Amino acid sequence: MSETYEFAEKYEEKAAQAAKLDAADGLAALRDRFVLDTASDHAGGAAGVYLDGNSLGALPRAVPGRIEDVVRRQWGELRIRSWDESGWWTAPERIGDRIAPLVGAAPGQIVVGDSTSVNVFKALVAAVRMAGEGGSAGAAPRDEIVVDASTFPTDGYIAESAARMTGCRIVPVLPADVPGVLGPRTAAVLLNHVDYRTGRLHDLPGLTAAVHAAGALAVWDLCHSAGALPVELDAHGVDLAVGCTYKYLNGGPGSPAYLYVRRELQPRFDSPLPGWNSHAEPFGMRPEYEAGSGAVRGRVGTPDILSMLALEAALEVWDGVSIEAVRAKSLALTDFFLECVDAYVPRGLVESVTPSAHAERGSQVALRCEGAGDVMRRLIERGVVGDYRAPDILRFGFTPLYVSFAEVERAARVLRDVLG
Ligand SMILES: *Cc1c(COP(=O)(O)O)cnc(C)c1O
Repeated sequence: MSETYEFAEKYEEKAAQAAKLDAADGLAALRDRFVLDTASDHAGGAAGVYLDGNSLGALPRAVPGRIEDVVRRQWGELRIRSWDESGWWTAPERIGDRIAPLVGAAPGQIVVGDSTSVNVFKALVAAVRMAGEGGSAGAAPRDEIVVDASTFPTDGYIAESAARMTGCRIVPVLPADVPGVLGPRTAAVLLNHVDYRTGRLHDLPGLTAAVHAAGALAVWDLCHSAGALPVELDAHGVDLAVGCTYKYLNGGPGSPAYLYVRRELQPRFDSPLPGWNSHAEPFGMRPEYEAGSGAVRGRVGTPDILSMLALEAALEVWDGVSIEAVRAKSLALTDFFLECVDAYVPRGLVESVTPSAHAERGSQVALRCEGAGDVMRRLIERGVVGDYRAPDILRFGFTPLYVSFAEVERAARVLRDVLG
């Protein structure tokens, strides 16, 4: 059997399998809520395959019209009146409540605003301050911040500065080793739910319980999990959490991040950035600070309304969508991609660093590959858009709301061509 013939057969078999999976996909219709490539957008006739929604989610169709209205009518005509009449002032908590069901949080615990980096800072300093309260006289201070050593760099940089400011020491460890370093000196633990590079899903319930058993606070970064899989913040007693909204939540470039503070902790949440928007009486213009109550405490200054209301429109795509269904499709997509790569790509050219066990996998596949930067450049030229993470990782994100199985098959086929 000639090589070409053998491949034609494999391609046909996988394409048929993809067609079946697409036909049975209960989320398939959601794709129409997004602006995506059509066949005519690409020279070769085949539409592009967007596998980078874990860096910048695609544009939901509802957004441009909303932004047009916010700019022309709310800003252009109503001007200052929009803070009340268009609901600008209450947007950070209102939009937080829209994100809440996606991460398993009851209303009133999430505020939207600032970047993830800034929210990591607020959460971590506040966690250390809370951990330091109520220690018995003579007890050693809680002066250690445990940080995921494999973290997205910004979290590590911010944690280091937060540690210096609070008189703490950083203890960097891999998430699996966290239980072994916890102790009476641990103040807070900052962890990623999904590793941005490998796509590994960490054990949020188990690690949170271990942190609590040590008397410390758990701070989770949800950048690569929110919108891709169930998080269940309330159910697992997570203390604080942060996340961005421009990845799986499709809020747009630089859309504001969010901060979750568990309800019971809100009265003790002592923000290191107590801006006037978090004041109990912001328009009282009082010289002394008095923190507002509830999620409002996580605010800093005037919210960036244009980005925030683009995000609000983007979140409408989630109406009627179950995060469990999203998770089931996400796992089916990543399974199918790994199967296609295994069937098409000659042995030894790529190696998956994403765990094969579902319980340990986020919504991406990371393939280690020689010359990964160059390979990704050639994939993108051919319409398959993933990204490259130094030094040798090809990263493919699978957004269940708009990625189809046929696209997954096509992406694996193009990868084979590029490598072959
Ligand atoms: C994407 C990402 C960020 C982004 O931080 P910004 O301040 O929004 O730029 C932070 N942490 C993790 C883990 C991320 O994946």
